[in-house]
Amino acid sequence: MQNLEPGMPQPLNFYSFTLEGLEKFLKQYGKEKFRAQQIFKWVYEQRVTDFDQMLNLSKDLRAELKNLITFNLPPIVKHLVSVDGTQKFLFDVRDGNSIEAVVIPSDDRLTLCVSSEIGCNMACQFCFTGKQKLKRRLDTYEIVGQFMQVQDILNKSGLKLSNIVFMGMGEPLDNCEAVFGAIDVIHSPWGVNLSRKKITVSTSGLIPEMWRVADAKVRLAVSLNGYNDEVRSLVMPINKKYPLADLLEECKSYYRATGDKITMEYVLLKGVTDQLDHAKQLVKLLRDVPCKINLIPFNEHPGSGFERPSDETVQAFHTECMRLGAQVLLRRTMGRDIYAACGQLTTKVNRPETMDISNSKIGGNNARSFSSGQPGL
Ligand code: SF4
Repeated sequence: MQNLEPGMPQPLNFYSFTLEGLEKFLKQYGKEKFRAQQIFKWVYEQRVTDFDQMLNLSKDLRAELKNLITFNLPPIVKHLVSVDGTQKFLFDVRDGNSIEAVVIPSDDRLTLCVSSEIGCNMACQFCFTGKQKLKRRLDTYEIVGQFMQVQDILNKSGLKLSNIVFMGMGEPLDNCEAVFGAIDVIHSPWGVNLSRKKITVSTSGLIPEMWRVADAKVRLAVSLNGYNDEVRSLVMPINKKYPLADLLEECKSYYRATGDKITMEYVLLKGVTDQLDHAKQLVKLLRDVPCKINLIPFNEHPGSGFERPSDETVQAFHTECMRLGAQVLLRRTMGRDIYAACGQLTTKVNRPETMDISNSKIGGNNARSFSSGQPGL
Protein backbone atom coordinates (compact mmCIF):
# COMPACT_ATOMS: atom_id res chain seq x y z
CA MET A 1 0.00 0.00 0.00
CA GLN A 2 1.02 3.55 -0.57
CA ASN A 3 2.41 6.00 1.93
CA LEU A 4 -0.46 8.31 2.75
CA GLU A 5 1.45 11.09 4.43
CA PRO A 6 0.69 14.55 3.05
CA GLY A 7 3.74 16.18 1.56
CA MET A 8 4.93 13.03 -0.18
CA PRO A 9 5.53 13.10 -3.94
CA GLN A 10 2.24 13.21 -5.85
CA PRO A 11 0.21 11.93 -7.52
CA LEU A 12 -0.51 8.48 -6.09
CA ASN A 13 -1.87 5.62 -8.12
CA PHE A 14 -5.54 4.89 -7.44
CA TYR A 15 -5.19 1.16 -8.09
CA SER A 16 -3.01 0.75 -5.00
CA PHE A 17 -5.70 2.11 -2.70
CA THR A 18 -8.05 0.14 -0.52
CA LEU A 19 -11.33 1.82 0.35
CA GLU A 20 -10.08 2.48 3.87
CA GLY A 21 -6.78 3.78 2.52
CA LEU A 22 -8.50 6.25 0.23
CA GLU A 23 -10.82 7.38 3.03
CA LYS A 24 -7.81 8.14 5.20
CA PHE A 25 -6.03 9.85 2.35
CA LEU A 26 -8.98 12.12 1.58
CA LYS A 27 -9.40 12.91 5.27
CA GLN A 28 -5.83 14.17 5.40
CA TYR A 29 -6.79 16.66 2.73
CA GLY A 30 -9.98 17.64 4.58
CA LYS A 31 -12.34 15.75 2.27
CA GLU A 32 -15.43 13.78 3.30
CA LYS A 33 -14.96 10.07 3.87
CA PHE A 34 -17.93 9.01 1.70
CA ARG A 35 -16.22 10.49 -1.37
CA ALA A 36 -13.93 7.46 -1.39
CA GLN A 37 -16.89 5.12 -1.83
CA GLN A 38 -18.18 7.26 -4.70
CA ILE A 39 -14.85 7.17 -6.48
CA PHE A 40 -14.52 3.40 -6.05
CA LYS A 41 -17.95 2.94 -7.62
CA TRP A 42 -16.99 5.05 -10.60
CA VAL A 43 -13.78 3.17 -11.17
CA TYR A 44 -14.62 -0.48 -10.49
CA GLU A 45 -18.34 -0.50 -11.37
CA GLN A 46 -18.53 2.06 -14.16
CA ARG A 47 -14.90 1.89 -15.37
CA VAL A 48 -14.76 5.67 -15.33
CA THR A 49 -11.22 6.86 -14.70
CA ASP A 50 -11.52 10.53 -15.52
CA PHE A 51 -12.37 12.73 -12.56
CA ASP A 52 -14.15 15.14 -14.92
CA GLN A 53 -16.75 12.46 -15.57
CA MET A 54 -17.41 11.72 -11.89
CA LEU A 55 -20.36 14.01 -11.79
CA ASN A 56 -21.43 13.45 -8.19
CA LEU A 57 -18.15 15.08 -7.08
CA SER A 58 -18.03 18.86 -6.99
CA LYS A 59 -16.11 20.64 -9.71
CA ASP A 60 -13.56 21.94 -7.20
CA LEU A 61 -12.97 18.50 -5.71
CA ARG A 62 -12.52 16.97 -9.16
CA ALA A 63 -9.93 19.59 -10.03
CA GLU A 64 -8.10 18.99 -6.77
CA LEU A 65 -8.13 15.20 -7.03
CA LYS A 66 -6.64 15.35 -10.51
CA ASN A 67 -3.44 16.61 -8.94
CA LEU A 68 -3.41 13.99 -6.21
CA ILE A 69 -4.42 10.73 -7.84
CA THR A 70 -3.63 9.09 -11.14
CA PHE A 71 -5.23 6.09 -12.84
CA ASN A 72 -2.19 5.15 -14.91
CA LEU A 73 -1.69 1.46 -15.53
CA PRO A 74 1.23 -0.39 -17.14
CA PRO A 75 0.54 -0.31 -20.89
CA ILE A 76 0.09 -3.53 -22.83
CA VAL A 77 2.81 -3.60 -25.47
CA LYS A 78 2.22 -7.04 -26.91
CA HIS A 79 -0.74 -9.38 -27.12
CA LEU A 80 -0.34 -12.93 -28.41
CA VAL A 81 -3.09 -15.47 -28.97
CA SER A 82 -2.29 -19.17 -29.00
CA VAL A 83 -3.87 -21.78 -31.23
CA ASP A 84 -5.60 -23.14 -28.11
CA GLY A 85 -7.15 -19.79 -27.12
CA THR A 86 -4.62 -18.91 -24.43
CA GLN A 87 -3.69 -15.24 -24.55
CA LYS A 88 -0.49 -13.64 -23.36
CA PHE A 89 -0.15 -9.96 -22.52
CA LEU A 90 3.17 -8.22 -22.21
CA PHE A 91 3.16 -5.10 -20.02
CA ASP A 92 5.73 -2.32 -20.01
CA VAL A 93 6.73 -1.70 -16.39
CA ARG A 94 9.31 1.02 -17.00
CA ASP A 95 13.10 1.00 -17.21
CA GLY A 96 13.07 -1.39 -20.16
CA ASN A 97 11.37 -4.14 -18.16
CA SER A 98 8.29 -6.07 -19.00
CA ILE A 99 6.08 -8.55 -17.22
CA GLU A 100 3.65 -11.08 -18.59
CA ALA A 101 0.12 -12.13 -17.71
CA VAL A 102 -1.71 -15.01 -19.30
CA VAL A 103 -5.42 -15.68 -19.82
CA ILE A 104 -6.21 -19.39 -19.75
CA PRO A 105 -9.64 -20.43 -20.99
CA SER A 106 -11.34 -23.63 -19.90
CA ASP A 107 -14.89 -24.96 -20.10
CA ASP A 108 -16.33 -23.01 -17.23
CA ARG A 109 -13.75 -20.40 -16.38
CA LEU A 110 -11.46 -17.73 -17.67
CA THR A 111 -8.39 -17.56 -15.47
CA LEU A 112 -5.81 -14.80 -15.38
CA CYS A 113 -2.30 -15.76 -14.28
CA VAL A 114 -0.54 -12.63 -13.02
CA SER A 115 3.06 -11.73 -12.25
CA SER A 116 4.14 -10.37 -8.88
CA GLU A 117 7.81 -9.54 -9.52
CA ILE A 118 10.15 -8.65 -12.37
CA GLY A 119 12.45 -11.67 -12.38
CA CYS A 120 12.68 -13.98 -9.37
CA ASN A 121 15.30 -14.97 -6.82
CA MET A 122 13.99 -18.48 -6.18
CA ALA A 123 15.96 -19.95 -9.09
CA CYS A 124 13.70 -22.95 -9.69
CA GLN A 125 15.63 -24.88 -12.28
CA PHE A 126 12.75 -25.66 -14.62
CA CYS A 127 11.58 -22.05 -14.80
CA PHE A 128 12.60 -19.43 -17.35
CA THR A 129 11.76 -16.56 -14.98
CA GLY A 130 14.01 -18.15 -12.37
CA LYS A 131 16.97 -17.63 -14.69
CA GLN A 132 16.41 -13.87 -14.51
CA LYS A 133 17.44 -12.42 -11.14
CA LEU A 134 14.92 -10.30 -9.29
CA LYS A 135 14.97 -6.78 -10.66
CA ARG A 136 12.08 -5.30 -8.77
CA ARG A 137 8.98 -6.25 -6.82
CA LEU A 138 5.78 -4.98 -8.39
CA ASP A 139 3.57 -2.41 -6.67
CA THR A 140 -0.03 -3.19 -5.81
CA TYR A 141 -1.31 -1.07 -8.71
CA GLU A 142 0.86 -2.99 -11.16
CA ILE A 143 -0.73 -6.26 -10.05
CA VAL A 144 -4.29 -4.92 -9.96
CA GLY A 145 -3.41 -3.23 -13.26
CA GLN A 146 -2.76 -6.55 -15.00
CA PHE A 147 -6.27 -7.65 -14.03
CA MET A 148 -7.98 -4.38 -15.00
CA GLN A 149 -6.16 -3.96 -18.30
CA VAL A 150 -6.95 -7.49 -19.42
CA GLN A 151 -10.55 -7.30 -18.19
CA ASP A 152 -11.07 -4.03 -20.06
CA ILE A 153 -9.97 -5.74 -23.28
CA LEU A 154 -12.10 -8.83 -22.62
CA ASN A 155 -15.11 -6.57 -21.92
CA LYS A 156 -15.15 -5.63 -25.59
CA SER A 157 -15.97 -9.26 -26.38
CA GLY A 158 -18.42 -9.63 -23.51
CA LEU A 159 -16.01 -11.88 -21.59
CA LYS A 160 -15.27 -11.78 -17.89
CA LEU A 161 -12.34 -13.10 -15.93
CA SER A 162 -13.61 -15.62 -13.39
CA ASN A 163 -10.39 -16.56 -11.55
CA ILE A 164 -6.98 -15.17 -10.78
CA VAL A 165 -3.86 -17.15 -9.95
CA PHE A 166 -0.60 -15.71 -8.70
CA MET A 167 1.54 -18.11 -10.71
CA GLY A 168 3.19 -15.81 -13.20
CA MET A 169 6.62 -14.26 -12.86
CA GLY A 170 7.97 -13.98 -9.33
CA GLU A 171 7.38 -15.59 -5.94
CA PRO A 172 4.19 -13.95 -4.59
CA LEU A 173 5.18 -14.51 -0.96
CA ASP A 174 8.41 -12.62 -1.59
CA ASN A 175 6.25 -9.54 -2.23
CA CYS A 176 3.53 -9.93 0.38
CA GLU A 177 2.59 -6.32 0.92
CA ALA A 178 1.78 -5.67 -2.74
CA VAL A 179 0.30 -9.12 -3.41
CA PHE A 180 -2.08 -9.14 -0.45
CA GLY A 181 -2.89 -5.48 -1.08
CA ALA A 182 -3.90 -6.49 -4.62
CA ILE A 183 -5.90 -9.45 -3.30
CA ASP A 184 -7.78 -7.07 -1.01
CA VAL A 185 -8.71 -4.90 -4.00
CA ILE A 186 -9.59 -7.86 -6.20
CA HIS A 187 -11.69 -9.62 -3.57
CA SER A 188 -13.49 -6.73 -1.86
CA PRO A 189 -17.04 -5.71 -2.84
CA TRP A 190 -15.82 -2.11 -3.22
CA GLY A 191 -13.17 -3.35 -5.69
CA VAL A 192 -13.33 -6.07 -8.32
CA ASN A 193 -15.55 -8.25 -6.11
CA LEU A 194 -14.13 -11.67 -6.95
CA SER A 195 -14.81 -14.49 -4.49
CA ARG A 196 -11.87 -15.57 -2.33
CA LYS A 197 -12.31 -19.10 -3.65
CA LYS A 198 -11.49 -17.83 -7.13
CA ILE A 199 -8.13 -16.45 -6.03
CA THR A 200 -5.09 -18.73 -5.77
CA VAL A 201 -1.63 -17.92 -4.49
CA SER A 202 1.13 -20.27 -5.58
CA THR A 203 4.38 -20.50 -3.66
CA SER A 204 7.68 -22.26 -4.12
CA GLY A 205 7.57 -22.88 -0.36
CA LEU A 206 8.39 -19.69 1.54
CA ILE A 207 7.22 -21.20 4.78
CA PRO A 208 7.44 -18.10 7.04
CA GLU A 209 4.93 -16.26 4.84
CA MET A 210 2.52 -19.07 4.06
CA TRP A 211 0.22 -18.24 6.98
CA ARG A 212 -0.78 -15.14 5.06
CA VAL A 213 -2.53 -17.24 2.42
CA ALA A 214 -4.71 -18.85 5.08
CA ASP A 215 -5.22 -15.47 6.72
CA ALA A 216 -6.49 -14.01 3.43
CA LYS A 217 -8.72 -17.12 3.05
CA VAL A 218 -7.65 -17.64 -0.55
CA ARG A 219 -6.53 -20.89 -2.18
CA LEU A 220 -3.03 -22.21 -1.78
CA ALA A 221 -0.97 -23.91 -4.48
CA VAL A 222 2.50 -25.24 -3.77
CA SER A 223 5.12 -25.77 -6.43
CA LEU A 224 6.30 -29.18 -5.21
CA ASN A 225 8.21 -30.72 -8.11
CA GLY A 226 10.05 -33.34 -6.10
CA TYR A 227 9.19 -36.62 -4.41
CA ASN A 228 11.98 -36.36 -1.81
CA ASP A 229 14.33 -33.70 -0.43
CA GLU A 230 17.21 -34.65 -2.66
CA VAL A 231 15.30 -34.24 -5.90
CA ARG A 232 13.35 -31.21 -4.73
CA SER A 233 16.55 -29.44 -3.68
CA LEU A 234 17.97 -30.12 -7.13
CA VAL A 235 14.93 -28.72 -8.90
CA MET A 236 14.07 -26.02 -6.35
CA PRO A 237 16.99 -24.65 -4.32
CA ILE A 238 14.61 -23.12 -1.76
CA ASN A 239 14.10 -26.67 -0.47
CA LYS A 240 17.55 -26.56 1.12
CA LYS A 241 16.32 -23.81 3.42
CA TYR A 242 12.75 -25.02 3.86
CA PRO A 243 12.71 -28.82 3.50
CA LEU A 244 9.76 -30.97 2.59
CA ALA A 245 8.76 -32.12 6.08
CA ASP A 246 8.36 -28.51 7.27
CA LEU A 247 6.64 -27.49 4.05
CA LEU A 248 4.07 -30.25 4.31
CA GLU A 249 3.43 -29.44 7.99
CA GLU A 250 2.70 -25.86 6.95
CA CYS A 251 0.32 -27.17 4.29
CA LYS A 252 -1.56 -29.12 6.94
CA SER A 253 -1.82 -25.95 9.04
CA TYR A 254 -3.31 -24.18 6.03
CA TYR A 255 -5.89 -26.95 5.66
CA ARG A 256 -6.77 -26.84 9.35
CA ALA A 257 -7.31 -23.08 9.12
CA THR A 258 -9.32 -23.01 5.88
CA GLY A 259 -10.71 -26.48 5.18
CA ASP A 260 -9.44 -26.09 1.62
CA LYS A 261 -7.28 -28.69 -0.05
CA ILE A 262 -3.92 -27.55 -1.33
CA THR A 263 -3.02 -27.85 -5.00
CA MET A 264 0.38 -29.50 -5.39
CA GLU A 265 1.99 -28.53 -8.67
CA TYR A 266 4.34 -31.24 -9.91
CA VAL A 267 6.42 -30.69 -13.03
CA LEU A 268 7.30 -33.83 -14.97
CA LEU A 269 10.95 -33.66 -16.04
CA LYS A 270 12.27 -36.42 -18.23
CA GLY A 271 14.33 -38.88 -16.18
CA VAL A 272 14.20 -36.66 -13.08
CA THR A 273 10.63 -36.67 -11.78
CA ASP A 274 8.66 -38.71 -14.31
CA GLN A 275 9.30 -42.38 -13.48
CA LEU A 276 6.71 -44.77 -12.07
CA ASP A 277 8.78 -45.23 -8.93
CA HIS A 278 8.74 -41.44 -8.51
CA ALA A 279 4.95 -41.52 -8.70
CA LYS A 280 4.89 -44.08 -5.89
CA GLN A 281 7.16 -41.96 -3.70
CA LEU A 282 5.16 -38.83 -4.47
CA VAL A 283 1.84 -40.36 -3.48
CA LYS A 284 3.41 -41.80 -0.33
CA LEU A 285 4.90 -38.42 0.57
CA LEU A 286 1.50 -36.72 0.28
CA ARG A 287 -0.43 -39.53 1.94
CA ASP A 288 -1.64 -37.47 4.89
CA VAL A 289 -1.70 -34.02 3.28
CA PRO A 290 -5.18 -32.96 2.09
CA CYS A 291 -4.34 -32.06 -1.48
CA LYS A 292 -4.83 -32.64 -5.14
CA ILE A 293 -1.86 -33.11 -7.43
CA ASN A 294 -1.58 -31.15 -10.62
CA LEU A 295 0.80 -32.80 -13.09
CA ILE A 296 2.50 -30.42 -15.50
CA PRO A 297 4.62 -31.84 -18.33
CA PHE A 298 7.73 -29.66 -18.55
CA ASN A 299 7.53 -26.78 -21.03
CA GLU A 300 10.67 -26.08 -22.98
CA HIS A 301 12.32 -22.69 -23.02
CA PRO A 302 15.60 -21.49 -24.49
CA GLY A 303 18.60 -22.86 -22.61
CA SER A 304 16.67 -25.16 -20.27
CA GLY A 305 18.66 -28.17 -19.14
CA PHE A 306 15.61 -30.43 -18.84
CA GLU A 307 13.54 -32.33 -21.35
CA ARG A 308 9.84 -32.87 -21.65
CA PRO A 309 8.81 -36.51 -21.13
CA SER A 310 6.97 -38.32 -23.90
CA ASP A 311 3.16 -38.24 -23.84
CA GLU A 312 3.22 -41.96 -23.01
CA THR A 313 5.43 -41.42 -19.96
CA VAL A 314 3.23 -38.58 -18.78
CA GLN A 315 0.13 -40.70 -19.19
CA ALA A 316 1.71 -43.63 -17.35
CA PHE A 317 2.69 -41.38 -14.43
CA HIS A 318 -0.84 -40.02 -14.23
CA THR A 319 -2.36 -43.49 -14.32
CA GLU A 320 0.00 -44.71 -11.61
CA CYS A 321 -0.91 -41.84 -9.28
CA MET A 322 -4.60 -42.57 -9.79
CA ARG A 323 -4.05 -46.29 -9.23
CA LEU A 324 -2.41 -45.45 -5.91
CA GLY A 325 -5.46 -43.47 -4.86
CA ALA A 326 -4.23 -39.90 -5.31
CA GLN A 327 -6.51 -37.12 -6.46
CA VAL A 328 -4.54 -36.13 -9.51
CA LEU A 329 -5.11 -34.02 -12.55
CA LEU A 330 -3.03 -33.95 -15.71
CA ARG A 331 -2.93 -30.32 -16.68
CA ARG A 332 -3.45 -29.80 -20.38
CA THR A 333 -0.55 -27.71 -21.63
CA MET A 334 -1.87 -24.34 -22.75
CA GLY A 335 -0.16 -21.53 -24.62
CA ARG A 336 3.07 -23.40 -25.25
CA ASP A 337 3.38 -22.06 -28.80
CA ILE A 338 3.46 -18.45 -27.54
CA TYR A 339 5.73 -19.21 -24.56
CA ALA A 340 2.82 -18.59 -22.20
CA ALA A 341 2.84 -22.00 -20.54
CA CYS A 342 3.94 -22.67 -16.98
CA GLY A 343 7.61 -21.81 -16.45
CA GLN A 344 8.03 -20.00 -19.77
CA LEU A 345 7.50 -16.36 -18.80
CA THR A 346 10.26 -13.80 -19.12
CA THR A 347 11.06 -10.17 -18.31
CA LYS A 348 12.42 -9.48 -21.77
CA VAL A 349 11.32 -10.20 -25.28
CA ASN A 350 14.62 -11.95 -25.93
CA ARG A 351 13.45 -14.97 -27.84
CA PRO A 352 11.20 -15.75 -30.82
CA GLU A 353 7.57 -14.77 -30.16
CA THR A 354 6.26 -18.16 -31.09
CA MET A 355 7.44 -21.75 -31.08
CA ASP A 356 6.69 -24.39 -33.65
CA ILE A 357 4.69 -27.09 -31.92
CA SER A 358 3.39 -28.68 -35.10
CA ASN A 359 4.45 -32.12 -33.88
CA SER A 360 2.73 -31.64 -30.60
CA LYS A 361 -0.68 -32.94 -29.71
CA ILE A 362 -1.85 -29.44 -28.93
CA GLY A 363 -1.76 -28.47 -32.60
CA GLY A 364 0.18 -26.54 -35.20
CA ASN A 365 1.71 -23.14 -34.84
CA ASN A 366 -0.81 -20.55 -35.92
CA ALA A 367 -0.29 -18.20 -33.01
CA ARG A 368 -1.43 -14.65 -33.66
CA SER A 369 0.14 -11.45 -32.50
CA PHE A 370 -1.65 -8.17 -31.82
CA SER A 371 -0.39 -4.78 -30.86
CA SER A 372 -1.93 -3.10 -27.87
CA GLY A 373 -5.58 -2.20 -28.26
CA GLN A 374 -6.33 -4.37 -31.26
CA PRO A 375 -9.30 -6.65 -30.99
CA GLY A 376 -9.07 -10.27 -31.91
CA LEU A 377 -10.32 -11.89 -28.79
S1 SF4 B 1 8.68 -21.13 -10.49
FE1 SF4 B 1 7.98 -19.24 -9.54
S2 SF4 B 1 9.20 -19.10 -7.67
FE2 SF4 B 1 10.26 -20.56 -9.00
S3 SF4 B 1 11.75 -19.31 -10.14
FE3 SF4 B 1 9.90 -19.45 -11.39
S4 SF4 B 1 8.76 -17.59 -10.88
FE4 SF4 B 1 10.27 -17.91 -9.25
